[in-house]
Amino acid sequence: MEDHFKKVVSHSKEYGYIFQSSEIYDGLSAVYDYAQNGVELKKNIREYWWRSMVYMHQNIVGLDAAILMHPTTWKASGHVDAFSDPLIDNKDSKKRYRADVLVEDYAEKLNIKAQKEVAKAKKRFGESFDEAQFVSTNPRVVKYLADKEAALKRLNTSLEKEDLADVKALIEELGIACPESGSKNWTDVKQFNLMFGTKLGASAESATDLYLRPETAQGIFVNFLNVQKSGRMKIPFGIAQTGKAFRNEIVARQFIFRMREFEQMEMQFFVRPGEEMKWYNYWKETRLNWHLSLGMGDENYRFHDHEKLAHYANAAADIEFNFPFGFKELEGIHSRTDFDLKAHEEFSGKKLKFFDPEINENYTPYVVETSIGLDRMFLAVLSHSLQEESLEDGSTRTVLKLPSILAPVKAAIFPLVKKDGLQEIAHDIVETLKWDYNVIYDEKDAVGRRYRRQDAAGTPFCITVDHQTKEDQTVTIRYRDTMKQERIAISEISEKLKISISYKDWLS
Ligand code: ATP
Repeated sequence: MEDHFKKVVSHSKEYGYIFQSSEIYDGLSAVYDYAQNGVELKKNIREYWWRSMVYMHQNIVGLDAAILMHPTTWKASGHVDAFSDPLIDNKDSKKRYRADVLVEDYAEKLNIKAQKEVAKAKKRFGESFDEAQFVSTNPRVVKYLADKEAALKRLNTSLEKEDLADVKALIEELGIACPESGSKNWTDVKQFNLMFGTKLGASAESATDLYLRPETAQGIFVNFLNVQKSGRMKIPFGIAQTGKAFRNEIVARQFIFRMREFEQMEMQFFVRPGEEMKWYNYWKETRLNWHLSLGMGDENYRFHDHEKLAHYANAAADIEFNFPFGFKELEGIHSRTDFDLKAHEEFSGKKLKFFDPEINENYTPYVVETSIGLDRMFLAVLSHSLQEESLEDGSTRTVLKLPSILAPVKAAIFPLVKKDGLQEIAHDIVETLKWDYNVIYDEKDAVGRRYRRQDAAGTPFCITVDHQTKEDQTVTIRYRDTMKQERIAISEISEKLKISISYKDWLS
């Protein structure tokens, strides 16, 4: 799995998907640039989301709010006071960690030890093995699991009480060492706010402290009434938005999975109080279906229902994806109650209520949110699509089996050789197709190598012009996934591409 992840990272660079930000200066940690193919894939994922959310729902409209917002926004939302993680530094290695993650990793190690004992016993006892009985009576397993539970319980209690001294005491009592250096020489635990601060204004005295938004949702909440009134929206209705968000993550070591600057695709759905669970379940199902529509394997998705809820939520679930490093959150669906709108009413002194003519009542709507990281979705698509295939002739090929609707380049057009007028015909085909599709022309190297290059870049179709083309106006079309080739008329190419990227076929 780790090996596959490394391949994804190096493939992203080699084929123009993702570069490290400011690489010539040795990069900036957890910040990335999207290259020539990456920018297209990202745009296509965004479009796939936007169409399914906005165009497919008559009661959902879009918004593009600014990244900079009035600073009181973040007081009201709770981010100034509560959007923080507990951090701890190791004095010897100078490495920084999330204190809660150190304890959670320790607990997971105990869990793994217990599982190993179970696996050993299973092997020893064979058929007659009673796992439940073994887990509840084997002294070693019982102790591992009890220690695990005790560590997690104490961590949660101390975090809830904001007793950071006890979190440090716990780390010391458990004998947790710095994973890099083995040192147990820890600093105190501090709360670290994840928002990036910046300043608005020309002179130091008059400058106002602002934040780069850590989520796009608040831009939607503060515009709730503007959109509702100008769009004559009736509840239930939704506002969708895609855009950059910024979080000064303490530990960000998983490529584009956890970045300091990333893009979110969020939709806030405003509903009648009391109807939120119905809509929460609707959006859980609808969002899962959106993921499944891309055909990346039903078994690679699962729900994780939250037991511990954020202060604003009365239900929450993640859609997790099977990344190369295991199942991890890809999207969150949250029933956020009326927390945000009420808080903005209170802090701004402006009413954010809705008059519902059907029940003749004024109320603060409840909100169900769907929130997905565009970069995380990109990683899910890229890591799933990158495959090494063994071919019948004993060779292997690297192929990026991107869903064709998302592929950056839809077709590559080749002249078989660089003479006899074949280049001109290939150029003419590009000129015709370019109005509707992102296509490229390539004449370098033998045609077999050109096919492999496009396989690795994720291009679903290659079109080759040869001498027969001059006689009967046909070309060879080669399919990336099956490597099958067939002859079709030049006039049929456009229709082939159209079918492969029909939103109707993919989304319904
Ligand atoms: P996590 O638990 O992984 O930190 P979160 O629960 O804080 O994520 P939300 O605040 O619910 O995440 O944000 C919604 C979505 O935004 C997440 O499901 C994820 O896809 C994406 N996201 C959040 N933080 C990052 C990040 N640092 N880099 C990339 N994507 C992110």
